[in-house]
Amino acid sequence: MDESKPFTASKVASGIINPVTGRRIVKTWMIDELMPFAWQAYQSFGHLLNIECIAQKPIIDFFPAPQMRLAFIDRYEKDRQFLSLPENENDWLPFIQYDFGYGIVQPAYLTDIQLLLSSQRNYLLGKGQLRNEYFDASLCIDTGNTIAYKDITAGKIIFCDGAAGFNNPFFSNLPYGLNKGEMVLVEVPGLPAEQIIKKGYSLVPWKENTFWLGSTYLWEFDDDLPTRGFYQFAENWLRQTVKMPFSIVDHRASVRPATLERKPFVGVHPSNNKMGILNGMGTKGCSLAPFFANQLVNHLLFNEPIMADANVQRFKRILSR
Ligand SMILES: Cc1cc2nc3c(=O)[nH]c(=O)nc-3n(C[C@H](O)[C@H](O)[C@H](O)COP(=O)(O)OP(=O)(O)OC[C@H]3O[C@@H](n4cnc5c(N)ncnc54)[C@H](O)[C@@H]3O)c2cc1C
Repeated sequence: MDESKPFTASKVASGIINPVTGRRIVKTWMIDELMPFAWQAYQSFGHLLNIECIAQKPIIDFFPAPQMRLAFIDRYEKDRQFLSLPENENDWLPFIQYDFGYGIVQPAYLTDIQLLLSSQRNYLLGKGQLRNEYFDASLCIDTGNTIAYKDITAGKIIFCDGAAGFNNPFFSNLPYGLNKGEMVLVEVPGLPAEQIIKKGYSLVPWKENTFWLGSTYLWEFDDDLPTRGFYQFAENWLRQTVKMPFSIVDHRASVRPATLERKPFVGVHPSNNKMGILNGMGTKGCSLAPFFANQLVNHLLFNEPIMADANVQRFKRILSR
């Protein structure tokens, strides 16, 4: 059951799977397991739905300041698994304004979440396996052995409700730390689209001549709407970074289902084994969701373990209140 809203986190995300993170460019949590799993998973979705929804795209990381250059080179000297340096640091000068050189992060992946979600939606609707409607938790009844909702009786209910999970009465005690992000879509004819360009913010190849630019990470916000402030920031960033004419064609915002300890919420409710959850994907849904969806399914079907760091059983005390 899914209410098709236009600006959910997945529909606003750029879809990057970046193997390194933060100012110190350390390896992303569990990336050695997540990357190959994600590649396989998106390839299988692609075969099933007859689409291509994952590609390799190196990240060209233009250093915004000299200390970022030093941090990259320092990390490169310690671990070269995902980092390399260009042969000619000036080769991007016809396109991009930069003063401190760049490094390359690869392999990195770009998933096409928009295409995947719309194709998957049509596939499930065609099979009569999806209802496009709002789920009202107050109408959900635990009958003891089953969960009843309107005309449905089920053995289990699994919530994958993203940021709305913050208000889900069965799991609302979980330590969410919701986080708002904004992006613009911008047309830049002539800008190469084989790489993801990063200079503090990311410029991600989208459709023909169009790029996704974002994003912000706001822990405090009043609503989930796009702001004038970010639009102006994006315009300035583009003026200072891109050397060709551009025009902003769209502007969107959404709320990420982030968690205070930056680990997802996966598994079965400690007090009610008919209720499950797959949420808390934060800034990394594209790589975490396929991996942990698979763990959850294997747990439900074959009683296989869910990784302790992600298992929602770690909140047994809070969820039993
Ligand atoms: C600007 C931005 C950029 C991002 N970039 C990246 C990126 O490059 N890489 C990456 O890995 N991640 C990125 N993310 C994070 C990523 O978007 C999230 O981790 C991921 O989309 C979360 O997916 P989800 O399915 O849990 O939640 P959602 O995408 O929010 O989906 C939840 C679904 O549940 C439905 N729903 C909720 N409540 C109900 C209800 N009561 N009844 C019916 N339906 C309901 C909603 O309508 C929605 O369809 C980004 C996020 C933002 C905002």
